[in-house]
Amino acid sequence: MLRLARLENGEAEIFRSFQGEGPMAGRVRAFIRLSGCNLHCRWCDTAYTWNWYGAGFAHERDAPGAPHAFDLASEMVAISTAQAAKQLLALGAPGLVITGGEPLLQAAGVLALAEEIRARDAGLQLELETNGTKAPQAALAALLDLIVVSPKLSHSGNLREAALVPQALQALADLPQAVFKFVAAAPSDLGEIAALVQMFGIAPARVWVMPKGQSSSDVHACGAAIHASVLAAGFSYSDRLHLHLFGAARGV
Ligand code: SF4
Repeated sequence: MLRLARLENGEAEIFRSFQGEGPMAGRVRAFIRLSGCNLHCRWCDTAYTWNWYGAGFAHERDAPGAPHAFDLASEMVAISTAQAAKQLLALGAPGLVITGGEPLLQAAGVLALAEEIRARDAGLQLELETNGTKAPQAALAALLDLIVVSPKLSHSGNLREAALVPQALQALADLPQAVFKFVAAAPSDLGEIAALVQMFGIAPARVWVMPKGQSSSDVHACGAAIHASVLAAGFSYSDRLHLHLFGAARGV
C-alpha cells in the first residue's frame, strides 16, 4: 500500500500535467504525490502532505489564529501499488514522476510501485523527486531513469542536521542519474549551494537553481533577483511553470 495526498475532490493525487521544474520542465508527465515528509520547510507548497493540526510547525502562510495546517485523516488516502500503477499508466504520459512530500519515507512501497510500472511498461521514463535526506535502495535506484534531489537550505527553516544528511547526499551524488535542484530565496543563497556542490563532488551541469515563490509574481520577482548569480555560478536556472500556468493549485 501507498499513502497518497488527496486532490481537492478527495481523490488520490494522481494527475497528468507538464513537469513544472528542473531538467524535464515542460515535459508531459503523470504524477503521483505521496503523503508524509520528514522536513518542515516554512515555505512548502505542499504542506497538506505533512503539516498536521497540532504539530506546531511554523509556515509563512500562517495567519493569526489560522495556522497553515491540515487534518491528516482528510488529507491522506491509502491505495494499493497495483491500483496506483493502473491509474498512472491510464494517463498515457511518456514518463512518470513519483513526488511528495518525501517519497522515500515509503521506500518499500515506492519500490513495489516501480516494479509494477516496469512490469506493465518497461520503456516508460520513471522519475523520482526527493529532498535528499534518504538514499534509495539499490533495487529502486536501478529502476529509476532520473532522480531529482532537492536539498533544503537554511532559509527553509529546517535544522541543518535534519535537512542535510551527508551519507544520503553522497550516495545520491554518486548515482549517475541524479541531478540536484535547489530553491534559492536570494543571491546570497548561491554561496550555500556552491559549498554543498563542492562538498559532494557534484558537477555544475547537474545543478538547477529555482526561485522561491508561491505565485507567478513571486517567481518573477525572485527570479529577477537571483538569475545573474545563478549564471555566474555556472548552474542551470529552473522556472516554475506550473505557477505561471495554473497558480498554487493541487493536481497540476
Ligand atoms: S522537503 Fe519538500 S515536501 Fe517536505 S516540507 Fe520541504 S518542500 Fe515540503
